[in-house]
Amino acid sequence: MSSGRVALVTGASRGIGRAVALRLAAAGCRVAINYQNSLSAAREVMEEIQSSGGTAMIAGADVSDAGQVKELFDAVNKGLGPVEILVNNAGITRDNLLMRMSDAEWDSVIRTNLNSVFFCARAAIRTMMKARFGRIVAMSSVTGLAGNAGQTNYAAAKAGILGIIKSIAREAGSRGVTANVIAPGYIETDMTASLPGGVREGILAQIPVGRYGLPEDVANVAAFLASDEASYINGQVIAVDGGMTM
Ligand code: NAP
Repeated sequence: MSSGRVALVTGASRGIGRAVALRLAAAGCRVAINYQNSLSAAREVMEEIQSSGGTAMIAGADVSDAGQVKELFDAVNKGLGPVEILVNNAGITRDNLLMRMSDAEWDSVIRTNLNSVFFCARAAIRTMMKARFGRIVAMSSVTGLAGNAGQTNYAAAKAGILGIIKSIAREAGSRGVTANVIAPGYIETDMTASLPGGVREGILAQIPVGRYGLPEDVANVAAFLASDEASYINGQVIAVDGGMTM
């Protein structure tokens, strides 16, 4: 259980982040729903939590920007209290073959998917260590473990997350703060919706459980890693991929 704890989920307006926010609220957390552009979708997530008797707030910020991350943590601190559970979920893709990848495609993915984890974890860690409790969960990807053609930028960011999280696990573990990584496989969200049919079928053939993942499959694991019961799981990378990368 995580009852009453304050959780911040980045990129919680849609997809996996939305499911994580709802799942943490169901576990009794008070949830801050971060978004960048999708204000009305973020509001709907907040209203869904509130209509079930939970506590939630929305908090817009571009988490690739250090200044906005500072303002985000100030807002959550004011609205709900110090962040005890941080789920670094916000992410984007800007796929291209290496020979065609632009500096802008590289930079935007590294800033959004990697720098954001550093900025948010740095903003959270001091109060977590002082409180002798904290949970940091970051969304990597099977692409960060195995690489993927057309995703050098995304793979670099998602592999970099492992380095950040394992270092935090070593720095803060003795203070009751755990840090872990989830590596989702193919999950049905806006991010994967635009993949061509042929690519989708090729991926399905590599998934032993025989189906694509749902945001809830990932949210269940995030909620467990965020719970008090997971206090002895630290610095781990858990693939939620139907067996795709075993
Ligand atoms: P999604 O449906 O595209 O949603 C992305 C979320 O991130 C949205 O809430 C978006 O906010 C937010 N976001 C993007 N850039 C942001 C920024 N700079 N600041 C704040 N929020 C930002 O993606 P998803 O499929 O749920 O993926 C969630 C995470 O899981 C990502 O890190 C992704 O890399 C990872 N993942 C996904 C899959 C998959 O198959 N779907 C597989 C492996 C890993 P707005 O709505 O405001 O734009």
